[in-house]
Parts: sequence; structure tokens; C-alpha cells
Amino acid sequence: MSEGGRATSAGASFPGRRIVVASNRLPVSLQRTGDGWEVEPGSGGLVTALAPVLRSRGGVWVGWPGTVKADDELEEVLNRATRDSGYRLEAVPLTREERDNYYYGFSNEVLWPLLHDLQTLFRFDPDYWSAYETVNRSFAETMARVAGPDDYLWVHDYHLMLVASALRDLGVENRIGYFLHTPFPPPDILVKLPWRKQVLSALLCYDLLGFQTIRDRNNFLACAGQFLRDVRVEGEGTVVRCDFEDRHVRVGAFPVSIDFDDFDRIARSDRVVSLMRDLGGIAPGGHIILGVDRLDYTKGIPNRIDAFRIVLERNPPLRGKLTLVQIVVPSREHIPEYHDLKRQIERMVGEINGRFTTDTWVPVHYRYRSLDRPALVAHYRKASVALVTPLKDGMNLVAKEYCAANVDLDGVLVLSEFTGAAAQLQDGALLVNPYDTIEVAEAIARATRMPSEERHRRMERLRSVVRDQDVYWWVETFARAASSSELPPLPTLPDFMPGFRLRGDPCGADGA
Ligand code: UDP
Repeated sequence: MSEGGRATSAGASFPGRRIVVASNRLPVSLQRTGDGWEVEPGSGGLVTALAPVLRSRGGVWVGWPGTVKADDELEEVLNRATRDSGYRLEAVPLTREERDNYYYGFSNEVLWPLLHDLQTLFRFDPDYWSAYETVNRSFAETMARVAGPDDYLWVHDYHLMLVASALRDLGVENRIGYFLHTPFPPPDILVKLPWRKQVLSALLCYDLLGFQTIRDRNNFLACAGQFLRDVRVEGEGTVVRCDFEDRHVRVGAFPVSIDFDDFDRIARSDRVVSLMRDLGGIAPGGHIILGVDRLDYTKGIPNRIDAFRIVLERNPPLRGKLTLVQIVVPSREHIPEYHDLKRQIERMVGEINGRFTTDTWVPVHYRYRSLDRPALVAHYRKASVALVTPLKDGMNLVAKEYCAANVDLDGVLVLSEFTGAAAQLQDGALLVNPYDTIEVAEAIARATRMPSEERHRRMERLRSVVRDQDVYWWVETFARAASSSELPPLPTLPDFMPGFRLRGDPCGADGA
């Protein structure tokens, strides 16, 4: 992680004294070993962006440690992790039942599919909702205990929508911001949530609500307008004001991002160059087409594998020349849909390999595991094409990481128009509808035949957006929106509408 100028100046604009962050999980990973606990610092984008802010301003990170067995030893481990992180970690313990009903239940079996427009996968259970309320209250109690009156509170993601409302009930008057990392659905989908009014009015207890894209923000405003009484919206920029009851809430779009410089630096390192050499054997003389996803039904992995089958069926000359490397990171294995998905992927990979493999070529290399950063970056740099084709995704950081690691400028990004990233990356990527497997197949074939001049032009555009609007820009933009007394004049973001490619293809063969 770089801690250069961009890192340390990010978040400088936050109002208040310290920052108290809350997210479902603490920014460390804890493993029970035979005789104690092993603790490793988290490496996700949120930790990368916020750790320097918390260290320089002082602060606390509140979250669930990921275990239901709290003991004295765990507390000691967290105290040690606090000393190592340079900011305080405060655990919110959960019972087994709370974990099952709040985390696996309401968060991941109700909100997750709903927020990703996949309402057919809902599983409603009234116990889920009451556990969600209880755990959000526990988070609020912990935050109220650790926050001073001048601290800025920043709550993250769909697990914790009700925290500000619970904090207000406790009499906490601090300024509170919220950022939703997932998409937000339009009214026709949110209407199916029995608790839609409670969720919307609780969200309007925050002072600043951040969404990934203008479209998500507008969906939220449309839902608030439709399901709550007397909601008024003022302003037209990236951040607008929403008035409801006696509250004035800022609502804006802040596309989350990555540490561009860090990925660029790792991509040029000797370690990555040597790992890339090892990968050469996978597709000797041909192209690696790369998919990198958590195991999740929102990521469209079966559709993508099917598109790859269509490419091979329709383009015999490409057989032997394209190799799909699909990395699937294990996730939420306790939920039945995720098991079924894993089996479906394995069956599809087996069918393609059984049908097309030759003595010298295996079409699909499937890895069900997580890679460390250098190995992941070596895959990014080695891949001729990244296939990022979720059915719906709040942002998709893999798309941005692929661009940042593409220091040779010769990779092509095939990107689902249903990712948040499509709004920023529409001018350099080949946009596809992931449900349209024929369109995805054609985009793969086009990418592998694209002249190098066009590949470079596209990748330069992509890299310049990801470099300019990196994760430190994201924190600082949110901080400015949280602090200014007027609606802040933030950069205009494209209001991207999937399905409407009005601007044509600015990087195409005849593009600028
Ligand atoms: N990732 C990783 N190891 C892997 C594959 C992915 O660390 O083997 C990381 C990747 O670098 C990225 C994150 O997982 O930062 C995935 O984020 P994304 O926004 O694409 O999807 P999410 O999993 O958050 O839905």
C-alpha cells in the first residue's frame, strides 16, 4: 500500500476531529489456530483507503470480528492488532443466531439479491428482520460508546442501513455519513421488500448518503419519493439535497476505486514478471481470456462460460488459440445457492474441456481459490482480455485493477454494462449485455483480433480514468461532500444508462 501524498491528503476535508468507521467486518482477518488466534491485516480497497486517514486523524474502526466465539484471548488479539494498525479496532460480538439471521439471513439472503435486481432469490423470514434491527442497534451502541462529540461517523454498506436511526434514538447528534457499496434498485424492485419504508426512512437519518453511480442515487431518490410522504429534492449536481420530515440529507454519487499507483507498481515488479513467465505455459502462443470473481450468482460466471463455448463453436480457427482462465474465490459457502452455483460452474467447465481439449490445449483453466496480490496482478498483466461480465455489480474493482496492472497497454476490457464501473469506463471498454451470450462471444472474438493501435488507445483512456479517480480521490470527494456548508461543486459524473449507447464507440476503429 502506498502512503504517499495522495494517501495522506485523502480525507483531509472530513469535518470533526477523529473518524469512527463502521463496517460489517473489522479490517483484519482472524483465524482460530490450534492454540490461539492468528490475525492478519485486511487488504481490501476500503482498508487501503481509510487506514491512512484513521492513522493521521486518529480514529476507531467498529466491526464484527467474524467469529461467534468471543473470549478473553480474542480481546487480547484485537488489542495487539490495534497497536499494529495505528488506530483502534472495536469489536461488535455476534451470537451464532445473530450471525445466521442478520448476516447470512437478512443481509445475504434478502438484501443482497434485492439490491442486485435478483428478487427471485429472496428468502423472507421475519426472524431475519428482527435480527437485522438488533445487530444494527448493537453497532450503534458501540459507536455511541467510542465516539466523542466532535467525531465524524462513517458507516459502510448494506449490512448497516439502520445504524444512523439507532444512533439518533440514542441521542447521538454527530454528523454521520453512509456509503452503499452495492447497487440500489428502482422502485419496481424495492417495492417487494416488506420493510421498504423502514429502510428508506432509516437511511434518511444519515447526513450524507453515498452511492456508486448517479443511476443508483437516482433510484434511491425515486424510491424515497414513491414510498415515503413529502420527500423533496433540491439541486442538480453530483450531490443533491433530500428534505424529509425535519431532516436535510445530502445524497450523492461517489464511484469507489483502487490504489492505482500500487497496482501499477506491483505490475512492474520483478516478482510479477517472473510469475508471468510461469503462466506462459497455459496458453503457449495464444491468448489468455481472464475471469476473476468471488463465487456469487451476481457475477454471471455460467453466462460467461457459455459465451466462451459459443466463441469456440463459431470460430474454429480460434480453437487452440484462446484459453479461459477462470479464478473463483470461495465465498458464502453456507448458503445453498452458492453450493449449487459451484456445481453448475464445475459441470460447465467439464463439458467444454471434455469436448474441445486436444493433446496440446486445455480450453478452460478453472481455479477455485484466492490468489495473493502478486499472483493476481501477474494474471491481469498476462491476460489479453479481461471478461468482467456480472449480471449486476455495485462497482467491480477487478475491472479497475485489470486496467491499472495493464502497463503494456495491450489488454482489452470486456465489461458488463450492468456494473457501476461501466459509467466511468464506457469509453475504453467493449461494453456487453452479460445475458446476451452471443454478444459477449462476439466481443471476445473482436478483442482477440483488435489491432494493437486500438488496444493501446482504449487502454490509455481506461488507465487515465482509473488513475485520476483513484481510491484516495474517492475518500476525499466524500469528505468534501460531508463538510462543505453549501452543496459541494463536485466533478460531474456520467449518468450512464445501460442499453443506450448513444455516443457510439468513441475508441472504435474510426474513433479519436
Ligand atoms: N481478489 C483477491 N484475490 C483473488 C481474486 C480477487 O484478492 O484471487 C480481490 C480483488 O483484488 C478485488 C476483490 O477481490 O479487489 C473483488 O472486488 P470486486 O469489487 O471486483 O468484487 P466483490 O467481490 O467485492 O463483489
